[in-house]
Amino acid sequence: MPELPEVETVRRTLNQLVIDKKIERVSVLLPRIIQHPDDIQAFAVMLEGETIRSVERRGKFLRFMLDRYTLVSHLRMEGRYGVYRSDEPMEKHTHVVFHFTDGTELRYKDVRQFGTMHVYPKDRDLLEAPLKKLGLEPLDEAFTPEAFRVKIEKRKTKIKPLLLNQEYIVGIGNIYVDEALFLAGIHPEREAHTLSAAETAKLHEAIVETLKDAVAAGGSSIKSYVNGQGEIGMFQHKLKMYGRKDEACLTCGTAIVKTVLAGRGTHFCPVCQPLKSKRGKRETLKS
Ligand SMILES: [Zn+2]
Repeated sequence: MPELPEVETVRRTLNQLVIDKKIERVSVLLPRIIQHPDDIQAFAVMLEGETIRSVERRGKFLRFMLDRYTLVSHLRMEGRYGVYRSDEPMEKHTHVVFHFTDGTELRYKDVRQFGTMHVYPKDRDLLEAPLKKLGLEPLDEAFTPEAFRVKIEKRKTKIKPLLLNQEYIVGIGNIYVDEALFLAGIHPEREAHTLSAAETAKLHEAIVETLKDAVAAGGSSIKSYVNGQGEIGMFQHKLKMYGRKDEACLTCGTAIVKTVLAGRGTHFCPVCQPLKSKRGKRETLKS
């Protein structure tokens, strides 16, 4: 499943490939991808004649900024965009095709068919589902240590599921949450309200650093993500914690533990990320 850095890489790549292209017509081959408007015909008609001015991002959603409309796209598990010449054969699992006036096409492929697209009049998209309830944007200037603290300090939820909840903070999925918690030295099962101000600040920094590093690594090699078929690939940053069960912690050498927390595979170092005792918890609350 793509996370914020991967979606950001796709966004940047799309910004190189489709800017100023004018949509001549749209083919919807799998109606269920289109969530708004309800009518597939209306969806296509709204986009005809529109030019892609930029591609933005909100959380893990791509926002294609057009003249009068915004197309909101979520790749979910397996969604892929690619730019092709219109005479190139259509590959299996291609569900939506944006035919441009210059003879090229933006094709959306999705083996699992979980991806979604919504079209709204320009800027309405932020006020409507699925974007309206989204929480803090971790790479925005507005994501300060203070804003983060206010959002989580009273919550009794365990910190990992809280960070995965898009209504609190967007774009951090299962992989980067394990990375950020390791970097901050915080056990994934700590309840959010037990984190000290110092720990919250450290976690804030770890989230930003983890995501920025991943974006930078992806961004520095964008070109390699467009393969011979014009398909924009996914980049995966080198990981310190996620997927390294039983391997040595890079800080202390202890074997990394994998457990299941709120239904998600969760990796942590039992030494670097202690689950504090009751005594430790009181000290945390006092600080
Ligand atoms: Zn360790």
